[in-house]
Amino acid sequence: MTRRPDNDVIGLGIIVAAVLMFVANGSVVVGDFLRAILSGDAPHEPMLGIALILNIALLLFGWRRYVDLTREVGQRRKAEETAHRLAHTDPLTGCLNRRSVGKALEDIIRAARITGHELVVMMMDIDNFKRANDTHGHQAGDAVLTQTVERVAALLPERSLMARLGGDEFAFAAIYDPDHAEAIERLMARITAAISRPVMIDGLSLDVTASIGLATSADKADADPAELSAALLHRADLAMYQAKKSGRNRYSWFEDVMESELRFRSELERGIREGIPRGEFVPYYEKQVDLDTGELTGFEMLARWKSPRHGIVSPDIFIPIAEEIGLISELSESLIRQALRDAREWDPRLTLSVNISPLQLRDPWFAQKLLKLLVEANFPPNRLDIEITETCLHESIGVVRTLITSLKNQGIRISLDDFGTGYSSLAQLRTLPFDQIKIDRFFVSTLGTNKDSATIIEAISSLGKGLNMPMTAEGIESPEVLDELRKFGSFKGQGFLYGQPVDAQEVRAMLAERALLQGSDDPAADTQAQTDTPRTALG
Ligand code: C2E
Ligand code: MG
Ligand code: MG
Repeated sequence: MTRRPDNDVIGLGIIVAAVLMFVANGSVVVGDFLRAILSGDAPHEPMLGIALILNIALLLFGWRRYVDLTREVGQRRKAEETAHRLAHTDPLTGCLNRRSVGKALEDIIRAARITGHELVVMMMDIDNFKRANDTHGHQAGDAVLTQTVERVAALLPERSLMARLGGDEFAFAAIYDPDHAEAIERLMARITAAISRPVMIDGLSLDVTASIGLATSADKADADPAELSAALLHRADLAMYQAKKSGRNRYSWFEDVMESELRFRSELERGIREGIPRGEFVPYYEKQVDLDTGELTGFEMLARWKSPRHGIVSPDIFIPIAEEIGLISELSESLIRQALRDAREWDPRLTLSVNISPLQLRDPWFAQKLLKLLVEANFPPNRLDIEITETCLHESIGVVRTLITSLKNQGIRISLDDFGTGYSSLAQLRTLPFDQIKIDRFFVSTLGTNKDSATIIEAISSLGKGLNMPMTAEGIESPEVLDELRKFGSFKGQGFLYGQPVDAQEVRAMLAERALLQGSDDPAADTQAQTDTPRTALG
């Protein structure tokens, strides 16, 4: 809101005119009045007296208006200042906000250049802030934010900048002498130590750590301040992301390679986004075998990305990205749909195992979506096996239990994948109705070379026997490992000894050879044909 200047001019004009009139009028009236008293006559200009009284009234009115206006101006200025502050700062911490950080950084860059200084930008994200907020409440969350910022503020040099960019994300900028750049490391050591002192709130002591990314203006002497300010924030952000990736509670310096990694990563993201509707994600299949009889029991579906740009890409690369960009459900559904179509052609004794991401388990509609796919493909639920990894159990065990129960009620089987890597407790295993445990391939493939692996497999196999749960050993790579494994009991197994994962056509061809396709009522379709000894598989 701004004041109209012409109003002021008119007001001022009225006051000036009234004063002039008062002076001119007053001298005539006072003279006339004095003359009238001295001569005893009536005043010559009685109307001028009345005009003078009106003039005084006008002056009083003008004065009053002037006082009002001055007060109004003061109030407006205060309101404008408050609006400006609210628009540019964060009310909780008093830091600048995202909107104003760029311009403020530009100003510091210009000031630093005049004195021959450089600028360091620190991007800070408080580790596991959401969890602290959810567990202890928003008041505690606010205390963590304000106290952390206060501690950093106390250590930053004069003329530093502090901005809150989002929930728990902050940017700080400080100028430094390029001849003493090591001062930054000292500052960081002090900041990290200050942050890690527990935050006290209502007798509660909260341990806080933060991940910080650092970038300096040192190699950008000629850059335009506006561009440099954006580049420094971006670089510090990349470095912060690296600090998070390397285990949090640390600081990382920006390196050029981070920029190319980011470019590669966004290229992969785009590739995944565009590749799903184009059908570039396809199921591969790995044989699962009964080790006692050598019989082929089914296949595990393993996703592959046939990327036009990168060739065949492993799921270890694209699954985590699909999870992060929120496409895992879509991707998984497309793969399961294809796999059900493929597996419908196989002998009905053969099962299909599919891997499910922990994120999908959190989807309340997951069971319904899966059933819909089964109905669409007209695939019997008892031939489907869902593999969930042990790490799912750390999340929300209640949700997982409900989901498992509802899937099992439909006849779907559930396996606990990569067992031995996630420290699940015996109690968890007992209360969750798994149909099968899959021993992680690391222990299996190192059996014979690593003593600990043998001990772990022995422990897992007696656990499986105790719980009466069948076990599958993944990662059987050699006949030696197979022989070792047999010493620990009965297992189903899978691994490169039986062949590498192959695509649907190859599976189809292999099954056709053994007369293990639906409808092939060949007499050869007996157990003999289904038998998959390592020797035949290895050729
Ligand atoms: P996983 O479920 O434990 O799958 C077994 C992995 O071990 C597969 O790797 C397989 O190729 C590999 N493997 C099999 N036999 C051997 C062997 O003898 N030696 C060695 N060293 N490795 C062997 P892959 O295909 O790269 O899959 C990696 C992981 O990606 C899988 O681990 C699974 O957790 C995940 N994954 C695969 N497909 C999907 C999917 O459709 N959805 C989800 N959410 N995850 C998937
Ligand atoms: Mg698996
Ligand atoms: Mg596994």
